[in-house]
Amino acid sequence: MGRTYRADAIVLRSMRFAEADRVLHLYTAERGRVNAIAKGVRKTTSRFGGRLEPLTRAALMLHEGRGELHTVSGADIISAHAAARERPHALGVALIGAEAVLKLHPEPEPQPRVFDGLVRFLEILDGPLPEGGNPAADALAVGFQLKLLLLAGYLPHLNSCASCGRDGPLVGYSAAAGGAVCEPCSGGPEWFRLGPGSLETIEALIERPLTAGALPAAVAADAVRVVEATYAHHGGFRMRTLQA
Ligand SMILES: [Zn+2]
Repeated sequence: MGRTYRADAIVLRSMRFAEADRVLHLYTAERGRVNAIAKGVRKTTSRFGGRLEPLTRAALMLHEGRGELHTVSGADIISAHAAARERPHALGVALIGAEAVLKLHPEPEPQPRVFDGLVRFLEILDGPLPEGGNPAADALAVGFQLKLLLLAGYLPHLNSCASCGRDGPLVGYSAAAGGAVCEPCSGGPEWFRLGPGSLETIEALIERPLTAGALPAAVAADAVRVVEATYAHHGGFRMRTLQA
C-alpha cells in the first residue's frame, strides 16, 4: 500500500546503504525535508546510475510506504549542478550550504523560501566564481547561512544593543544576550568583540540578494563566528563543514 507522489527535490546528502542502495537526504518544494532510498543506484545498470549525486535537482517520483524512508521510483534530472561539483571552491561553498539546510530546516513540511533560496544558491554556484580562497569566507556561504537563520527564526538582533536596547555604538556579539551588544553591556562568557564594518556587512548580507565573492578576511572571520555562535546557542550544533 502507500502512495506515490512527485517532488521537485534537491539532494543534500547521499549515503551508501546496504550493497547497492543509497539513502538520499532531500529538500523538496512540496514537503520540505524528506529522506528516501534509491535502490540499486550503485549498480552500473541502474536506471538512476550515478545521477542522484549531492546538489542534483531532480523531479522525483517517490513512494511513501509505512517506513520513514520513501522510495525513489523515478528521476528526471532538472539540473545536475556539475559545474558547482567539479570546482573545489564552489563545492566547498555548496557543502556548507547543504549542511546548513540539513541542520536548520529538518521539518518535513514545505517552506518555499528555503527551497527557492537553495535553488538560487546552487544556480549562483554554477556561474563564475573566484577560484581558491576559503569557501567559508565567501559572501555566498555566509549570506546563505544568515538567510537560513532568518527563515528558521534564529536570526540574532543586530541593529541595537540586544541587552539594553541602546542604538550603539555596537562593539561585540553575545549569543546569550541575543545579538549585538554595546560597550557597557560587553563581557560575559559568550561575548566576543567585532571588528569595524563586520555588523554592517552581516546586515547587508541578510538584506541583499545572494551573491558570491570573497569577503575581507577579518569581516568574514567575524561573520562566521556570529553564525557559529548562533548555531551553538539556539540549535545546539556545530557545522562539520566550517571546522578547519
Ligand atoms: Zn547595551
